[in-house]
Amino acid sequence: MLLGYCYKLRPNHHQSEKIDEWINLLRATYNWSLRDRIDTYYQRYCCGQYCDLQTKAVITPLVCLIGGASGEPWRENGKKRSPVEIQITNLPSLKKARPWYKDIDSTVLQQNLKQLNTAFDNFFKGRGFPKFKNRSRFRSFTYSMGVKLKGNKIYLPKLGWMKFYNSRPIPDGFKIKSVTVRKKADGYYVSLRIEDKSIPAFPVKNLEEIQTITGLDMGLGKLVYCSDKSAIDNPKFATNKTAKRLQKIRQRRVSRKNKYSKNKQKAQQRLSRFQHKIAVKREAYQWQTAKKIVDKSDSIAVEDLQISNMIKRCKPKYDEKTGRFLKNGQSAKRALNRLIADASWYSLTQKIEYMAAKSGKIVLRVNPRCTSQQCSVCHHIDPANREGEKFLCMNCGHIDDANFQASLNIKNKAINQYQLNIKNRTSSKKKCGDKVGRDLPEPKQLTLFETPTNELTLDKRKHHYARMSKRSEPGNLLRQLDLFDQENNPRNSATL
Ligand SMILES: [Zn+2]
Repeated sequence: MLLGYCYKLRPNHHQSEKIDEWINLLRATYNWSLRDRIDTYYQRYCCGQYCDLQTKAVITPLVCLIGGASGEPWRENGKKRSPVEIQITNLPSLKKARPWYKDIDSTVLQQNLKQLNTAFDNFFKGRGFPKFKNRSRFRSFTYSMGVKLKGNKIYLPKLGWMKFYNSRPIPDGFKIKSVTVRKKADGYYVSLRIEDKSIPAFPVKNLEEIQTITGLDMGLGKLVYCSDKSAIDNPKFATNKTAKRLQKIRQRRVSRKNKYSKNKQKAQQRLSRFQHKIAVKREAYQWQTAKKIVDKSDSIAVEDLQISNMIKRCKPKYDEKTGRFLKNGQSAKRALNRLIADASWYSLTQKIEYMAAKSGKIVLRVNPRCTSQQCSVCHHIDPANREGEKFLCMNCGHIDDANFQASLNIKNKAINQYQLNIKNRTSSKKKCGDKVGRDLPEPKQLTLFETPTNELTLDKRKHHYARMSKRSEPGNLLRQLDLFDQENNPRNSATL
């Protein structure tokens, strides 16, 4: 079993300076190696037969295009090294030319190059081309061996023993596989990958074993709507009123300081600490939410959303005659985009998947098409079924909350798609028999229309007025009158 544990480090002044220095040096080698690989790509691409010249080996151009030029490409037995291995063979000469690299642990230097290689691997799989990293993009390095733990101290090779906040103990039998030191806005963190080979990887249930299932619909009013009619609040950590205001102030303070000044740096640090705090809160809340959801049932059905498409900007509109820009509705969409980004559904589903895997449960993904327009009773699909939060089926007159309707649809979709045999398949099937006319809706179902949110807003309004009235008057008027009105005041009469 492979697990990840993260702790906050407590380096002394000397050590933190060293970490900063290492990150800078490693960034330089990373960028240099990236340039190296790009250059060789062009060289070989132009010459065509770079490999042929040296070994006469038959290599298809697609495989061999991108490799490291500096370093020794050939092994002693005449076989070809991979691009990372070539660049690793170059490390001793790097240390010779630039002796300050000798201070850095050798596994860290190697891992740095391997990271670049994974970036290229990802590129070959169809993701973006590796980027050159600036200071804000490159903030970590990785050890692959030599790290020791003892109580609340950790030994990092060439950095020495360092204290850390031992927030949770590592389970017995687990061994450290790799260690990453990361710089964040409020200090340094270390994340350990630990492994115990005797424990098998997460047990996974077969689809036939599934007894219960919960459908989840991600939303903004509430974060998650479950098909068992429960919902989880959306705290909106970055988009609530106070956070937005503070963010704006901090941002403004940064932008008004002189460029390259110490004060600007300080303001920037304050801003990023604030953003870091929000991120930490969100992370913690998502873990709790994921735990709650996973505990509900054997399997969880979620929509397979493309969130990056949802938060795209609107396309610009032009006036063809004058060439001017017209309003395209982006200003209205921006707020929505920010809300979606703040809710971060993707990382929540990732956490749900991790928690589910840990407790031997399954997460099923479902195509999100028409989940909010379909009636869960008669399966009638019509965009007119939904009107904001309300759902009213145009075919059978079924009334429900639109979000819960969507979660039910997701659940049913998962059952059909994965051929699950759930025993109590949605109680709504029973209701299908007695149709409800549009003019004569059943009183029981009508109450669903009066969503509790209505009452809540009333309550909130009352609360608001109460607070406002208190503020407008000095002190509490009723209580003041009370003191003078001695006849009616039991407290005063008692003391007298
Ligand atoms: Zn219907």
